[in-house]
Amino acid sequence: MEKVIDESVQGSTLTLERTKGNTRKLYIESYGCQMNFSDSEIVASILSEQGFDTTNVLEDADLVLVNTCSIREKAETTVRKRLEKFNAVKKTKPHMKVGVLGCMAERLKAKLLEEEKIVDMVVGPDAYKDLPNLIQEIDEGRNAVNVILSKDETYGDVAPVRLNSNGVTAFVSITRGCDNMCTFCVVPFTRGRERSRDPLSIVAEVNNLWQRGFKEVTLLGQNVDSYLWYGGGLKKEFANASEMQKATAVDFAQLLEMVALAQPRMRIRFSTSNPQDMTLNVIKTMAQYDNICDYIHLPVQSGSNRILKAMNRLHTREEYFELIDSIRRILPDCAISQDMIAGFPSETEEDHKDTLSLMEYVKYDFGFMFAYSERPGTLAARKLKDDIPVETKKRRLREIIDLQQRHGLYRTRQHLGKIEEVLIEGPSKKSDAHWMGRNSQNTVVVFPKEGYRVGDFVNVKINECTSATLIGEAVGYSDNN
Ligand code: SAM
Repeated sequence: MEKVIDESVQGSTLTLERTKGNTRKLYIESYGCQMNFSDSEIVASILSEQGFDTTNVLEDADLVLVNTCSIREKAETTVRKRLEKFNAVKKTKPHMKVGVLGCMAERLKAKLLEEEKIVDMVVGPDAYKDLPNLIQEIDEGRNAVNVILSKDETYGDVAPVRLNSNGVTAFVSITRGCDNMCTFCVVPFTRGRERSRDPLSIVAEVNNLWQRGFKEVTLLGQNVDSYLWYGGGLKKEFANASEMQKATAVDFAQLLEMVALAQPRMRIRFSTSNPQDMTLNVIKTMAQYDNICDYIHLPVQSGSNRILKAMNRLHTREEYFELIDSIRRILPDCAISQDMIAGFPSETEEDHKDTLSLMEYVKYDFGFMFAYSERPGTLAARKLKDDIPVETKKRRLREIIDLQQRHGLYRTRQHLGKIEEVLIEGPSKKSDAHWMGRNSQNTVVVFPKEGYRVGDFVNVKINECTSATLIGEAVGYSDNN
């Protein structure tokens, strides 16, 4: 049920085809959200210019990079174990260098480099363009570190290489950082303040992906609805922009329209939406263009107004319902998914019941659910006691997951008997004789391969379902081919 932090891909080694003339080998492992996987593609692109090809054999690597996640304690623990493993290999391959990238960089730089001495290089999410210099430093035997967060870095001018790609779906980053300051969340501290990428560079990347045969893009950001381009710079400094900049600014609804129009046969998705920033214009734009998928990931985190306030989520339960009602009115077939946190500090049984009743109201199609994990440096860690016993957190989480599974089944059943367009992404994990793809609502659909191929848009009749998967049979190509 996990997608924002997709457990099945955690720690994936990312590789790409060899570039002629490159002699050094890079091994890169990625953890965390889609943004991190997307960043690893930027890193590989920068390093391919520096003579590095990727490898998935750790022992062959000259440079080992791990792109890290700090969102929950478990993510950090996993990376620490991997670093121990890399260090053990390094003892037999002294020329091998190890670097930490991403969200753990800022917080743990001193510990990893100086105290434990288990890495040679630490690079924060805004410093990847400095990698050539940093690698020179470590080649000359010195430790290297750059964790400076930037006001305007978006990597809009770096063409990411697509690592381990299915050749069909790709992520395109549109914003970096986050300004929301949810009290539980470490992102504003690890990835910096929010800035948006030039829409023309986004459209150019999407056009390039289409020309290379890709059929679907997901526009990525911590809070895509907050996207605002006014010539560069931080979102929070928009108030100081010139009148001209303000008049010609591009918001998320406008960007969505630009992308949808640029490639009318390409599927467009986006993630993540924050309820406080999602506008009716975005929902209306989705309704206007067939190629924008009927799916919104709309994390709410809690159903209790008291807890929402303590989390600094800047909306109430009632405002969230209003947004849900608007989505259902304008986009009746739209799937909606959630992120939920169980056991936030001071959460009572009453608050927890509010979460369950909110879920009953929405009946989400999917969900990504977590027990609260205190993150150092966040406002919650500084001001609130992590006072919910682990057993209570686990029990509440279990109740939330069980309810979500019931709702998942309720939603998948609504697809039974329908014919839906599916974009084939690859073979089904469970059966080589079946394709796996997704419908517009982002639900996984599995069906016999017959003569169809990866990248085809196929109409599939839905015959069976589980709480997360639809099973059907193809009835022909869709008009989109
Ligand atoms: N920007 C999105 C938002 O604010 O809705 C997603 C941020 S985060 C990368 C993905 C999810 O991780 C969050 O929506 C939240 O449910 C979960 N998360 C973040 N911090 C957490 C924490 N301290 N403990 C447990 N879960 C957390």
